[in-house]
Amino acid sequence: MKKHILFLSLIMAMTLQSAMAQQPGKVTRKWFPDPDIKIESPAFTTGKYYTTYKGMKKYLQKQLAAYPQLMDITSIGKTQKGREIPMVTISDKASSQTKLRVLFTGAMHGDEHAGTEGLMWFIHQLGADASTRELLTKIDFYIIPMLNVDGSEADTRYTHNGTDPNRDHTRLSTPEITCLHKVATDVKPHLYVDYHEFKPLRTSYEEISDRIISNPNDFMFLYSSNPNVYPELTELIEQEFIPNTRKMAESWNLRNSIYYTTRGGSDGTIMNVGGHSSRSSSNIMALRGCVSMLMEIRGIGLGKTSYLRRVNTIYQLCQSYSQTAFNNSSRIIGSVEKAERQNRPVAIAYSIKTEKNQPFLFLDLLKNEIITYQVDAKPAKELKVTKKVSRPKAYVIDGRQTLAIDLIKKFGIRYEEFRQPRQLDVEAYRVKSSVTQKTELLNIHPVAVKVQPETLHATLPEGSILIPMSQPLFTLAAILLEPECVNSFVYMQVIDAQLNECLPVYRINE
Ligand SMILES: [Zn+2]
Repeated sequence: MKKHILFLSLIMAMTLQSAMAQQPGKVTRKWFPDPDIKIESPAFTTGKYYTTYKGMKKYLQKQLAAYPQLMDITSIGKTQKGREIPMVTISDKASSQTKLRVLFTGAMHGDEHAGTEGLMWFIHQLGADASTRELLTKIDFYIIPMLNVDGSEADTRYTHNGTDPNRDHTRLSTPEITCLHKVATDVKPHLYVDYHEFKPLRTSYEEISDRIISNPNDFMFLYSSNPNVYPELTELIEQEFIPNTRKMAESWNLRNSIYYTTRGGSDGTIMNVGGHSSRSSSNIMALRGCVSMLMEIRGIGLGKTSYLRRVNTIYQLCQSYSQTAFNNSSRIIGSVEKAERQNRPVAIAYSIKTEKNQPFLFLDLLKNEIITYQVDAKPAKELKVTKKVSRPKAYVIDGRQTLAIDLIKKFGIRYEEFRQPRQLDVEAYRVKSSVTQKTELLNIHPVAVKVQPETLHATLPEGSILIPMSQPLFTLAAILLEPECVNSFVYMQVIDAQLNECLPVYRINE
């Protein structure tokens, strides 16, 4: 933090506070005007900021009544407060060819309402607009406009029990995220897009500049740089989906970028660029073996400001992604099938080096101009794998680990259960170090371990499970079960680690 005399700091803080509270009108008019279009989704016909759960259900029922031959509404399960989470399936049953399966989700974070609104309008257009309906000759859509219904009703990021659902993808501690993974298992999407909103006016930017600055983008791409994602899936994003989306953005004058955000804490002045963390949606879906993307749309904290522009951005992103999927359907199907059979080593640890003085664009809210600042950055795309292990033939979990076994079932990972005790030659992991993390995550303090492999003749009790490698979700199983992986079952305290003891999870090697 730069030094100021007290008075100046106080004035700055006050000005900053008022600018943080809302984006000045002249900034909105110059950079984020509403487009000259009409969207007739509930928020715009009622004039309310966002659509309630009841309003959404009513609107979806109306679409179903208008297009019963194309649409279906099912519940994917219940939220913590017992509300059904609706999913709309849109499929042209008359068209018989092999279809791409596309899964879209909105409002995983409950206070990010534009996703719900944009997805509802896209559902409407799949019925009402002839050229949009063309997509159905090659694509079946599965759309969950409001995943975190409780959070959306309460206008909060979190689920009812205060959990951030987009940190729960390797732990499944919430019914909402558990339901989403059940959908992923049942539908097996080729393409997944998760629509979020980002906060353009961040207090942490005062570490970067004395001026009052905001992120200048209408939207940002956040896709997986996790090293265990099959590379062809990422190539499709970089070679097809992003370039096509950028063409769309140009025609609507929407500024965009690869996702970047300040790291916060002691790393306040370093930018994270992109993402690799398996506990968030776009990474875990890519690790499940599909083309996967999280879109961040300018929104949190803006209320109704530029709402038509923001909802149209989501709607146009739905159109662009669907059109790119339509045009590349055989390549996408081919890459997803190859990802299921991949046999690469499992990356256990990796590091990202800090790149000094990288240029980032910001919007000066008082001068109303876009400026560049040089900020140190950690680009996830440049990560280097520092440790990897070969893929085993199978993993085995001790039958007494009921929580871990229950989660394997909830992820839809295939397994074979031992009906009686079995003796097996296995590779065990002996815990050599165990460090409890300071940061709390999902109400626990994660545990990072270092392990040493050793061969063991183990007696596994009845109820133990064997997870074979020859299955589509093997990569997912590996990152959950390799104890040194960040966000693994051991890291998330699903499996307890005792220093100098062997873990109750084993590898069977070729
Ligand atoms: Zn979000």
